[in-house]
Amino acid sequence: MGLAVVNATLDGVAVGLRCEGGEIVAVGPQVEPEPGDQVIDGSRKALVPGLVNGHTHAAMTLFRGFADDLPLMEWLTDHIWPVEKRMDDEDVYWGTRLACIEMIRTGTTCFWDMYWHAHATARAVEDAGVRAVTAAPLIDDSDPTKSERACADAERSLDKIAEAGGELARPGFAPHAIYSLSERSLRWVAERAGELALPVQIHLSETEDEVKACEDEHGERPAFYLDRVGMLGPYTVLAHGCWLDHAELELIAERGATVVTNPVANLKLAVGRVFPYCDARDVGIEVGLGTDGPGSNNSLDLLSDAKTFALLQKNEARDPAAVTATESLAIATGRRSGLLGGRGVVLGAPADFLLVGVDDPELSLGTLDAGLVYAASGSIIDTTVVAGRVLMRGGVVEGADEVVARARERAAGLGLMR
Ligand SMILES: [Zn+2]
Repeated sequence: MGLAVVNATLDGVAVGLRCEGGEIVAVGPQVEPEPGDQVIDGSRKALVPGLVNGHTHAAMTLFRGFADDLPLMEWLTDHIWPVEKRMDDEDVYWGTRLACIEMIRTGTTCFWDMYWHAHATARAVEDAGVRAVTAAPLIDDSDPTKSERACADAERSLDKIAEAGGELARPGFAPHAIYSLSERSLRWVAERAGELALPVQIHLSETEDEVKACEDEHGERPAFYLDRVGMLGPYTVLAHGCWLDHAELELIAERGATVVTNPVANLKLAVGRVFPYCDARDVGIEVGLGTDGPGSNNSLDLLSDAKTFALLQKNEARDPAAVTATESLAIATGRRSGLLGGRGVVLGAPADFLLVGVDDPELSLGTLDAGLVYAASGSIIDTTVVAGRVLMRGGVVEGADEVVARARERAAGLGLMR
């Protein structure tokens, strides 16, 4: 018994689709449901691949509206980190559950997460039904004497994620940034990630200060430093990359790492430079799109951010053709990075897909891709399916009210609600 979608369109062609075991096992004009299938009527609906949010801190939904409008380091050190020290598993669980409701509503089927108590993130992801790569941040304040303990904590976190996770939550490493970690810890992560074949996510070149500090301390720019400690490879996600220069882009392309750009968070924190996407594309870098945390975006609506991404890059290039809607959507669905792994709605791919109404006003004229990226936002999504399970139908996610109430309780308990 599986899930079948009938009468939908895919790339303008009327198709049927069947999923079994979490995978798309048939898709095409002749595909019909089999006996016992759960059947979704896709009449007047289009199939769209699920969105892949390449960088976020999901549980930070609890921080929405708290300490907004501050510079990055002041925001982190004076406001966020002190509260995070008080957070427990249940805070992270309900903050993540709230994020998952929002992501399901706005079409995100997979996200890459970096947050404390990552095993609670994994449990939330399994209960919500979406996919995620979950990782606890590793920070040792660039103090080698704290490195051993930080690495031991990271190792323990991996075990706890493995216990809490199932088919949907995958573990990874999340060294926070080159400015918050000693070289010893960075080297340890690179080595362990290689041994365990796990992905790594790290913030890189978000601000100009980070670049200057790296040059002062290590005599080289951030991507070269990261390469020297062994962390630049095809298993690495580099979040931000705003201040990367051309030589760094060439190195990243050569090593096969993925850059995940977070245009809205970068704009809100006013980092002063846009990720040089067109240059990165020209040298062959794999790219994804992220929202960054809901404490610093503050939205998890990746489709809206796909529009911002396209507009920013067009303006930066002074060329309206620099990034098309189709390209922006390919990036937002993880199809421009092997590591992010978006494969689209094709035979053998994970059964992670969306249905949108082709008669919705925003999608009723013009091409679907342009409608999705330029005219609509995430609220246009009608149906969200992950691993062949229907998580939203007709815009309704079951159990959302309870999750909102519980998240409010946790935020109040942390003193984050006015
Ligand atoms: Zn981040």
